[in-house]
Amino acid sequence: MPRPIHARINLDALKNNLRVARRLGNSRIMAVIKANAYGHGLLRVAEALEEAEGVALLDVHDAAQLREAGSRQTILLLEGFFSPDDLQLIAEYDLTTVIHNSQQLASLDAYPRRGSLQVWLKVNTGMNRLGFTPEEIPAAMEHLKSHRAVRDVTLMTHFSHADEAEGVARQLERFNGLTATYRTPCSMANSAALLRYPATHGDWVRPGIMLYGASPFADTSAQQLGLKPVMTLGSEIISVREIKAGEPVGYAGLFRAEQSTRIGVVACGYADGYPRHAPTGTPILVNWQRTRTLGRVSMDMLGVDLSNIADAQVGSRVVLWGEGLPVEEVAQAAGTISYELLCALTARVPVGY
Ligand SMILES: *Cc1c(COP(=O)(O)O)cnc(C)c1O
Repeated sequence: MPRPIHARINLDALKNNLRVARRLGNSRIMAVIKANAYGHGLLRVAEALEEAEGVALLDVHDAAQLREAGSRQTILLLEGFFSPDDLQLIAEYDLTTVIHNSQQLASLDAYPRRGSLQVWLKVNTGMNRLGFTPEEIPAAMEHLKSHRAVRDVTLMTHFSHADEAEGVARQLERFNGLTATYRTPCSMANSAALLRYPATHGDWVRPGIMLYGASPFADTSAQQLGLKPVMTLGSEIISVREIKAGEPVGYAGLFRAEQSTRIGVVACGYADGYPRHAPTGTPILVNWQRTRTLGRVSMDMLGVDLSNIADAQVGSRVVLWGEGLPVEEVAQAAGTISYELLCALTARVPVGY
């Protein structure tokens, strides 16, 4: 028997979440599947999302593989190309590339073919990560529109505070100034903006995290948004013991029992992608009942409190996150976000669909 840890991917939940995104407006959907579809598996997820008009990722070879697998969607490279040599593949596989800096723009000039490339021109409206400033856009736009190799141009930007109180107003205003001038298609919204700011929807929306069933907001749960968890990380109890008051659990004895306590050991550790920084008290399910982790997370194991779960024994089912335990709650306890936990699932964890 293999070690009992496994991730189950619920593709019906994924399709449900795509329908939720669809119902929010009339924009075309560019489903974001970067980072191996947020840890859920690129090809299986892309196949299940075939009703989305496009998919977005980073790696040109992943994109080509999707095309080879039969995808007829728009396939967008979110950071564009990293070498001029990639342009060949981009044309060959009919990929759509972001252009976010002047080096990429210059590379286009050296590209010999005509009329084949679809470009998303990225505007830096305040994130200060990628993109041309609004002042640089007129020249870049001129360059692209008159370029022999470029078929069409979409304007895009990305919000830095769509999930927070500050919102999108400042960035939206800058972006709208440009889209009023250039009558090109446009794209702004990530999940948070799609859910909260209809004014950002434009021609294409770019949901990521919500498709995987997690809420981008601290104050609204996935369930409230109608989203269902796609990944459930499960395992089993592999050891049970009773410890006396004062006895420690795990490395460095970070947890010490205040009274005699029944504890369990779960076959899941940081080498599986569970966050090592999750402190004692991080929520976890044993036999579908909620309890807490105890002590420091090890490479392959972690401790749980079984005091209130009388029927727990070796072989009892454990849910680390997913169905019955939102990944956001585990992330919050560990001082991170759901995105990081989902992406961090490691290769040794078997994934079933
Ligand atoms: C990752 C990403 C998204 C998706 O963001 P979510 O918060 O997961 O919805 C959208 N647009 C760009 C440019 C991204 O990098």
